[in-house]
Parts: sequence; structure tokens; C-alpha cells
Amino acid sequence: MYDLIVIGGGPAGTSAAITCARHSARVLLLERGRFPRHKVCGEFVSAESLDLLFDLLAPQHARLFPAAVRIPRARVFLDGRTLHTPVDPPAASISRLDLDAALWDSAEHCGVDGRQQVAVQSVSGTGPFVVKTSGGEFESRALINASGRWSNLNPASADAQNSGVKWLGLKGHFAESSPPASVDLYFFEGGYCGVQPVDMRNGVAPSGRVNACAMVRADVASTLPEVFVCHPALQERSRGWKPLSNPVSTSPLVFREPQPERDGVLMAGDAVAFVDPFVGDGISLALRSGRLASECLIPFFAGNISLPEAARDYRTTYERGLTRVFRTSSKIRRMLSFPQSLRMPILLLLEKTPAITRYLVSKSR
Ligand SMILES: Cc1cc2nc3c(=O)[nH]c(=O)nc-3n(C[C@H](O)[C@H](O)[C@H](O)COP(=O)(O)OP(=O)(O)OC[C@H]3O[C@@H](n4cnc5c(N)ncnc54)[C@H](O)[C@@H]3O)c2cc1C
Repeated sequence: MYDLIVIGGGPAGTSAAITCARHSARVLLLERGRFPRHKVCGEFVSAESLDLLFDLLAPQHARLFPAAVRIPRARVFLDGRTLHTPVDPPAASISRLDLDAALWDSAEHCGVDGRQQVAVQSVSGTGPFVVKTSGGEFESRALINASGRWSNLNPASADAQNSGVKWLGLKGHFAESSPPASVDLYFFEGGYCGVQPVDMRNGVAPSGRVNACAMVRADVASTLPEVFVCHPALQERSRGWKPLSNPVSTSPLVFREPQPERDGVLMAGDAVAFVDPFVGDGISLALRSGRLASECLIPFFAGNISLPEAARDYRTTYERGLTRVFRTSSKIRRMLSFPQSLRMPILLLLEKTPAITRYLVSKSR
């Protein structure tokens, strides 16, 4: 009997597992994939969670953090205009290949029983829990579902099968000489593509690699080259790019209401809900919610509260602290999908009044 089973070894799952293991809980962390691996992501790690990330990493991975490329500004390319906004404090650009592997290793370093290539098939109970996997059955007193946006364990995955418009995520690394230290968002009808410099511990020099990551409607594009031609400035910029990684893709991308707890199971990261990627806060939300879920369980493991009380504390704290990010990002998404005639006056206003842009950015954190 484990104290805690965590399903999913991404940022949310590893953050949860490390937090509980450091409080002497017996933790089993199950991941169906294998690290290191590329993942569809803009790789923009917002400043709000950099201290937490630093705290989670084992000493041998601490270098990942100071070595990361810093992103002090954003440029939005939309309707032939360019909106500039500072990213203050600066974000970090860290490849998911390095980040996820370092977090996994850090979890094992602090005593978590981590098992890769073990897929969870079903969960029964409301505490204790029985978890059936491709590698056998396990039991635990508490359960955190950090299995991400798209998993056999999340009801939203079933909803997505029936929703009309299909969105894809696409990503690849490319060689570009001296890219600017900014996150550049190219918006076009039916999607957008973010581009930023990214470092790799074993890769080329930071000044020579960019990550291009798109969210696009399936009827508009299904490959990165098809995305690049959707925006004239991006088409021009990408002309000399040489691929440095195999492209990866994911689908579908589905937005829904956040649900931090279900039947005594604490949800963390994208399993709660998927935040619109252009706000660049998904990794941060994953790290923060993983930690929060575990912090709410620690008094339960100590025998001071019941599991339903721990679950209620998590739901309340999550809703108070984190749900506004989803609300703000869905408002911005709606605004960006207005017809151009309505969008233009808003853009002009934002161009003339950078304080409004800064306010919107702060509300999406
Ligand atoms: C196009 C796009 C661009 C993005 N850009 C950014 C960005 O620039 N910055 C940012 O902060 N966020 C970005 N995000 C969001 C970010 O990638 C996610 O928010 C983040 O990965 C969530 O972490 P997580 O741990 O919740 O889920 P994940 O990282 O998805 O981890 C979940 C893990 O669970 C595993 N799993 C699933 N089912 C099972 C099962 N049954 N059994 C065992 N294991 C299972 C999966 O293999 C996976 O490794 C982007 C997302 C997309 C789609």
C-alpha cells in the first residue's frame, strides 16, 4: 500500500510526487511514456514558477535553470501590425526534452518509486484506491491524476471525439542564426505559431536554435511548413531554417471548465483543464497545482484530516488561486477570434496603451 500514487510523469506529476516524497510519504509515480522525449510545447516557462522549478530540481540538475535562455519580451504579429510587450520578470526557455527528464530524475532522487512505460488502465475506489496498469495492480491511500490534457482517464478526452472543430499542436526545433531574445507569436486565420530561442544541454549554441510551436485548425494546416506559409512574416523568417529535431504533433486540443477534484481523486496540471497555450502558463500551472495537491494531502497522511477534507481544501485553494488564469485566457482567445474589423480597433488601443497589454498579461498568470 503506497501513501500516494501519481498518474503521469510530466511537470504536474513530478511536482506532486517530489513534494510528498520530501514529506516522507511512500510515492509511486506511473508514466506510460519514456523520457527523454520531445513534446509539443512552446517551451516558454513563465517567471511565476521558476523558483518552484528550481526548488524541485535535484542538485545535479540545478544547472538547467541558470543556463536557460531568458525571454524578456514578447512580439505579437497580427493583422499586419506588431505589438511589443515586456515579459517582466523574464521567462525562461527550456526544452521539454531536458525539463521533463530532469524533473523525473529529481523525483527518483528523493525516493519516489518511478516506473516508466507503465500505462494506467483503470482506477477503482474513492480512497483507498486500486490502480490497474499494464504492469500490474497497485494500491494507495490517495491518488493524484496528472495524466495531462489527453488521456484515457479523463472524461474530456471522450468529449473531444464529438466536438466539431479539430485543433492540432505541432512543434519542431530549427537552426536560425542569432534569433532575437523574444517570444514571437504569429497569428493567422485558424491558428498561431510561437517562435523563441531555446537551449539544449547537448545541442547547438543557444544563439542558433529556435523552437517553433503552432496551434492550428486541422483544416488549415497539418504540418509546420504548411503553418509557416499562413503568415507572411513567418514565411519570410522560416525561409532559411534547417530542422534540428523530428517534428512532433498532438491532437485534439480541447478547452473546458477546470475540475480540480473528482470522486476523491485530486487532478493536477492539464488534467484539471487545458489553458490556451499562447498565454504560456501551462507548465507553471502544472508545477503549481502538483505542489498544491500534495500540500493538501500531507495533513491527511499525518492523520490530521480525512481524505474528503484534503480534497475539499485542494478544490477551494485551486479555485481561489488558479482558475482566473483560465477565465482570462479564454477571454483573450475570444477577442482574437473576432472578425478583423472588430479586432483592429482593439489592437490599435493595445498598441497605444501598453499598460492594458501588461494588465492582460498579469491577469493570465
Ligand atoms: C501547442 C502547445 C503549445 C504549448 N506551449 C506552452 C508554453 O510555451 N508554455 C507553457 O507553459 N505551456 C505550454 N503548453 C502547455 C503545456 O505543454 C502543458 O500545460 C503541460 O505539459 C502540462 O503538464 P502536465 O504534467 O499536466 O501534463 P503532461 O506534460 O502532458 O504530462 C502528462 C503525462 O501523463 C502521461 N500519461 C497520460 N495518460 C497516462 C496513463 N493512462 N498512464 C500513465 N501515464 C499517463 C503522459 O504520457 C504524460 O507524460 C503548450 C501546449 C500545447 C498543446
